[in-house]
Amino acid sequence: MSTVADEIIELDDERIAHNYHPLPVVLATADGSWVTDVGGLRYFDALAGYSALNFGHRHPALIEATKAQLDRVTLTSRAFYNDQLAAFAEALVELLQIPDGMVLPMNTGAEAVESAIKVARKWGYEVKGVADGQANIVVAGGNFHGRTITIISFSEDEDARAGFGPYTPGFRTVPYGDAAAVADAIDENTVAVLLEPIQGEAGIIVPPEDYLPAIRRTCTDNNVLLIVDEIQSGLGRTGTTLAQDLSDVRADLTLLGKALGGGIVPVSAVVGSASVLGVLQPGQHGSTFGGNPLASAVGHKVVDLLATGEFQERSATLGKQLLSGLESLVGEGLVDVRGVGLWAGLDVDPNLGTGRQVCKALQEHQVLAKDTHGSTLRLAPPLVVTDEEVTWLVEQVRHALVDVKVGNF
Ligand SMILES: *Cc1c(COP(=O)(O)O)cnc(C)c1O
Repeated sequence: MSTVADEIIELDDERIAHNYHPLPVVLATADGSWVTDVGGLRYFDALAGYSALNFGHRHPALIEATKAQLDRVTLTSRAFYNDQLAAFAEALVELLQIPDGMVLPMNTGAEAVESAIKVARKWGYEVKGVADGQANIVVAGGNFHGRTITIISFSEDEDARAGFGPYTPGFRTVPYGDAAAVADAIDENTVAVLLEPIQGEAGIIVPPEDYLPAIRRTCTDNNVLLIVDEIQSGLGRTGTTLAQDLSDVRADLTLLGKALGGGIVPVSAVVGSASVLGVLQPGQHGSTFGGNPLASAVGHKVVDLLATGEFQERSATLGKQLLSGLESLVGEGLVDVRGVGLWAGLDVDPNLGTGRQVCKALQEHQVLAKDTHGSTLRLAPPLVVTDEEVTWLVEQVRHALVDVKVGNF
């Protein structure tokens, strides 16, 4: 490693709160699926900013839209209208095929989740008629929805939760993948069911095929809102526009973030019908930066890129190639591989080593990836990856597993 990198890592360690444990690589530039460190070494980016970089680094159309908007206006606040936001929202509800759709623009994913919880509670009191202060929301075990106090209140990850109480009440946790457990947990005060259609941070956990459709029916039958967090799964990652599309379901509120900002600015959104989002009146919710013209211009371009279907198609086709390649490594250092689209969860044989050891070995083979936890690794390459790169990536995983096996990491 270069001394420049060492110095930066040392300064980072001193000046940046230790809430992450980064791999020892200092990145300086990036293009498409590749990043370059301060010493000039290139790496394939198999994390893609936790799927915030679905279109790769610095996609030319996104950079062009950003630069054009930088020359016009960047921030107005929503005290006034701007000429970008409504058109972005219009394109987004059309992409998601929500005919009477409305958009609540926010910035980060956690804010979209928080906003949806507020909307669901208000809808519960004003529309469903739940007694004041009694609303509950059913959530799934093993969830990841972000880092705020309310969101970690219903997390099962002790690292994320311990030491941050008192916690927000009003949530009921049932096992993920069990639609009957969701139905059992619902009572007259339930305003919403909140879940990920595929659990990303938990290790790309794909639920049974009928899970989401069954929950959709239960929610409809019980007058409960279905809130689907597509912050990581959405916008092409699964080979479809939304993961919900895999089972022909539409949530009442769909949460987007990460890739919606094109890897350039934080952009998130709650998307749903006017009958639900319409409960919000002036002064009841807000965000200084939410819906700003720069974010709207970038988000609109992201929607335009997805409107052609090209990225979803690439994700589906190359995802099959990635998964079948990785499946050939089961028994050769991996105990399980699963995924949808260009989104794969790999369980490393615990006798071999940890996910982090494999990530360190991958780094030596010019691949940057991140363990989710324990022995599980996630691969989520940018959707601009080529088929040659997918084949190459699988080979590097094979090499890394051998390196860990012989005790090099
Ligand atoms: C990343 C993520 C979030 C939180 O998004 P932030 O932008 O980090 O606040 C919420 N839900 C899911 C499913 C995510 O993957």
